[in-house]
Amino acid sequence: MIDKENYFRRELGEDVRFNVPLKDFVSLKVGGVAEIFYEARDVEALTKAIIAAYKESIPFFILGGGYNIIPSDAGFPGLVIKNISNNIIFTPESSVVISDSGVSLGKLINLAAGRDLGGIEFLSGVPSTVGGAVYGNAGSSSSTIGDFVKSVTLLIERDNRLVIEKHDKEWMQFCYRSSRLKKNKGKEKFSPVILSVAIQMIRRRKDEIMQSMKDAMDHKKRNQPLDEISAGSFFKNPGASEEMAAGYLLDKSGVKKLRVGGAAFSQRHANFLINRKKATAEDVRLLAEKARLLVSEKCGINLEEEIEYIGQW
Ligand SMILES: Cc1cc2nc3c(=O)[nH]c(=O)nc-3n(C[C@H](O)[C@H](O)[C@H](O)COP(=O)(O)OP(=O)(O)OC[C@H]3O[C@@H](n4cnc5c(N)ncnc54)[C@H](O)[C@@H]3O)c2cc1C
Repeated sequence: MIDKENYFRRELGEDVRFNVPLKDFVSLKVGGVAEIFYEARDVEALTKAIIAAYKESIPFFILGGGYNIIPSDAGFPGLVIKNISNNIIFTPESSVVISDSGVSLGKLINLAAGRDLGGIEFLSGVPSTVGGAVYGNAGSSSSTIGDFVKSVTLLIERDNRLVIEKHDKEWMQFCYRSSRLKKNKGKEKFSPVILSVAIQMIRRRKDEIMQSMKDAMDHKKRNQPLDEISAGSFFKNPGASEEMAAGYLLDKSGVKKLRVGGAAFSQRHANFLINRKKATAEDVRLLAEKARLLVSEKCGINLEEEIEYIGQW
């Protein structure tokens, strides 16, 4: 057994921290500690941290913005890598933008707008890193980020070693709030990590883009409880019609009356599970299970989580 503290300090320097509360890094504000925690400021640091964990078979987790995950109260035994890589490459003659996976969507949309590049402004107000958005194919009712991805550069395992590969969007198998990476998570020994993404933008005037951004944001404010502590939509919509929206089914089943500890469902939108008052991750999971059972009993539909449970449960 290696001395993890010494090992990671040697590999990654003094920035490595230990027993760091994950609730400070996730939007739902629940969860225990990360045994080891490292903020990767660029793609090189991200790659280095993953390789360090891989060499010693230490479990690792890539944390983007933490807007769609629920870490367990027992925390994460291993290395949590907070991805804050933030480089974006714009080339004057091209409408393809290459973004590090740790860049926030808001920053990318705004900087691109300043160069008359749009297309993805429908994602305004979706809290996310580029990597997290591509992993979960984030989107609105009209479009998803996958529609704009040209290629992804990943760290992937081949023949028991990690290599960097570039793949096109077909390889990513984008579908509703998912991708090849999300579908295969846990099934493969090593889950590929997105290092950077080439996004095919559309040339548009900045003022038009800004107007679309405002429209998208206004629509979100009208329809989502953005002032409450949540992880966004908790369950996936089981179908495309209004009657098959998870929020509609949850509301119809009466989940807004349920409470477990400090966890509840938003009165404004039943698919937003919220942390009302010092909820634990256990409260959240129990409440979600109760809601799932209720929907199954009342509507005969088994809801599937959009969020992911992380760590030891
Ligand atoms: C108020 C609110 C509103 C929201 N509205 C929307 C919405 O309108 N539409 C929508 O689609 N979503 C919405 N969400 C959910 C959330 O914004 C998205 O799921 C977002 O894409 C999560 O990105 P993240 O960077 O926070 O990822 P995280 O939550 O940090 O991680 C999610 C998963 O992605 C993986 N991951 C992250 N980065 C990488 C990488 N570089 N390589 C491989 N895997 C990676 C993580 O390991 C984890 O498994 C909302 C959330 C909130 C809190």
